[in-house]
Amino acid sequence: LSERLGGILDRLTGRGALSEADVDAAMREVRRALLEADVSLDVVRSFIDRVREQAIGATVVKSVTPGQMVVKIVHDELVATLGADGEGGIDLQAVPPVAIMMVGLQGSGKTTTTAKLARRLTQRDKRKVLMASLDVYRPAAMEQLAVLGRDLDIQTLPIVEGQKPAEIAKRALSAAKLGGYDVVLLDTAGRTTLDEEMMSEAIEIKAIAQPHEVLLVADALTGQDAVNLARSFNERVGLTGIALTRVDGDGRGGAALSMRAVTGKPIKLIGTGEKTDALEDFHPSRIAGRILGMGDVVSLVERAAANIDAEKAARTAERMRKGQFDLTDMREQLIQMTNMGGLSGLMGMMPGIAKMKNQIASAGLDDRVVKRQIAVIDSMTRQERKNPDLLKASRKKRIAAGAGLKVEEVNKVLKMHRNMADMMKAMGSGKRGPMAGIAQA
Ligand code: GDP
Ligand code: MG
Repeated sequence: LSERLGGILDRLTGRGALSEADVDAAMREVRRALLEADVSLDVVRSFIDRVREQAIGATVVKSVTPGQMVVKIVHDELVATLGADGEGGIDLQAVPPVAIMMVGLQGSGKTTTTAKLARRLTQRDKRKVLMASLDVYRPAAMEQLAVLGRDLDIQTLPIVEGQKPAEIAKRALSAAKLGGYDVVLLDTAGRTTLDEEMMSEAIEIKAIAQPHEVLLVADALTGQDAVNLARSFNERVGLTGIALTRVDGDGRGGAALSMRAVTGKPIKLIGTGEKTDALEDFHPSRIAGRILGMGDVVSLVERAAANIDAEKAARTAERMRKGQFDLTDMREQLIQMTNMGGLSGLMGMMPGIAKMKNQIASAGLDDRVVKRQIAVIDSMTRQERKNPDLLKASRKKRIAAGAGLKVEEVNKVLKMHRNMADMMKAMGSGKRGPMAGIAQA
């Protein structure tokens, strides 16, 4: 997204407010990015509507390009939709034993997440935890939890053959009461699809256990089904939160947005691996960046806001448009680049540029080089900066001496300027940014 969106948005320069046409063009790209990230269609639609409303007519704050402004609005709305930071804690404020019930499809990670949560509550929160498997359908399911419990030194409810899930739930609760446990985790049985039997079983268990938390465990790689899944469980059983598993996989995490949007329930936990220590709190901004396929957009926008002087940017843009990009303009660009944390800082924040990293490295362009280039331009007269054609051998020698560098360095700067100026002219076609010119120098 960042490149395509960037391409469209780079052309929106120097205007006071975002126009409807600009926003619509940007929204087409955002829509595509969300669908690619597997966010469900309905959720995408309402999301786009909300963002469009905010973006149209939004005043572009000083020092930020309209493009960056749109990206920021999209990002902020995405984060807001995903939930507030810190809303994800497991709630243990109840009379012990506090029951926590895990629901979800087969293979979604319920048993693993039960063990992960038990480990966290035991080791970090110093609670006494009992785990119980209510999965009477899969032969090895109860044993799987028992093995995890032994590894972690956490108690599991003894297995009694022939009991129904509801009976096991009852037994788990009374065992927890008698044993003085703080928390009892109920690992229920899933099914491969959303079926009635699973739902009514979950409803029955919930009625018996009166759990303080009901967590839907769902695979982050769930695509368009995420909405149905989350909606059904929330309407039929009633959820208090969502645990998203396999966030270590290569999915873009659209399911998180879909499920949060249709249930309004917080994503409380993130599973990031098969081991029992791979459990994390949910951070909306991380998933937002992932869904958009961008690096750290927000900090980029914030740094840009802090550093770019809008007037200078507008002037440079105007000169670029007219094909009058001279060495003073180039100096301006280099300075802005160093203000934004230099090349390495920029590259870390923008995936599109990260791809050019090797190219840039082979051009020998690092932050020290940028400082030298600025020094070279500083040694030129105003005339020379305006008209680099004046720079014959003797002038180059003088400039090199002034900057304390070799003539070779002066030639490199001139070559880079030519490349950039050519790029600027070609920018009308919209394909390559000025950075491409830098990389070729
Ligand atoms: P259940 O049927 O819902 O109880 O699912 P399980 O807990 O048995 O998990 C199914 C498979 O997914 C197992 O092989 C787990 O190791 C794996 N799994 C669970 N959570 C994660 C996770 O966060 N990341 C990865 N990579 N694998 C996971
Ligand atoms: Mg299981």
